[in-house]
Amino acid sequence: MLLSELKRIFHKELDALYGKEEVSSFFYLLTEEYLGLERFVLAIQPDLRIQKNEEPKMFAALSALKEHRPIQHIIGSAQFMDMEFKVGPKVLIPRPETEELVRWVLADVDKQANLDILDMGTGSGCIAIGLAKSLKNANVQGLDISEEALEVARENALKNEVDVHFFKADMLDFYSELSFDIIISNPPYVRELEKNKMNKNVLFFEPESALFVSNEDPLIFYRGVARFASKHLKPNGMLFLEINQYLGPETCALLDTFDFNAIELRKDMYGNDRMIKTIKNSQL
Ligand code: GLN
Repeated sequence: MLLSELKRIFHKELDALYGKEEVSSFFYLLTEEYLGLERFVLAIQPDLRIQKNEEPKMFAALSALKEHRPIQHIIGSAQFMDMEFKVGPKVLIPRPETEELVRWVLADVDKQANLDILDMGTGSGCIAIGLAKSLKNANVQGLDISEEALEVARENALKNEVDVHFFKADMLDFYSELSFDIIISNPPYVRELEKNKMNKNVLFFEPESALFVSNEDPLIFYRGVARFASKHLKPNGMLFLEINQYLGPETCALLDTFDFNAIELRKDMYGNDRMIKTIKNSQL
């Protein structure tokens, strides 16, 4: 079959669901992943044919996309901070907004320092691993309540050749003897009432426990993390949070009830309130 014909079928079947541009990007990702072809190959070889035995994989991916399965689940990995992460139904797919949060940390720390860092609700491990990759002298740990997520996170640390200690704990009820220079978290924050705004690929295929909180108490995890951080950050230690874009002021107000200074709310690349940094009060 001609590769151009296969591309035409992808567009015919999927453009209405995803839009032309996104379908092109899916198609090229799949031809790269499954057929080992570079993106520009069609431009220089418009009559390139693919082998008969290579067709079923591409058509299986097409059906999965029609059912809203995330492209990252189909190819089994996602890109984050220029690294590859294994993903699956038990962890949230790393998001570009979360990468912005990690870059904020990296911009605000001494990269050579021996920092103690804790990621609360680590999921795929992308935040902890992203930090460990750039902060060579840091001691990075990540906790999650899901054993299945921790398995994925450990695999991702190996895959990306970093040393991160991942362990099972409940961020709402976590006791530790340790104190940290940086605590970071991207906890569940989508309210049930926001479900109707979400894409089917997220709603059907990503873990509910990583995404949703009740309408009545949407900041439950922020309260838990803030409580822990107010006791376990070193003086001048920093807390970084990814947040619900509709709850920026509320999340800042919650943090203000704890022992923090300099609460800073930032927008993501889409212009939505998305992340907060705050500093533990240094007075004893
Ligand atoms: N940003 C994610 C989404 O909208 C949610 C991440 C989270 O709940 N922590 O799908």
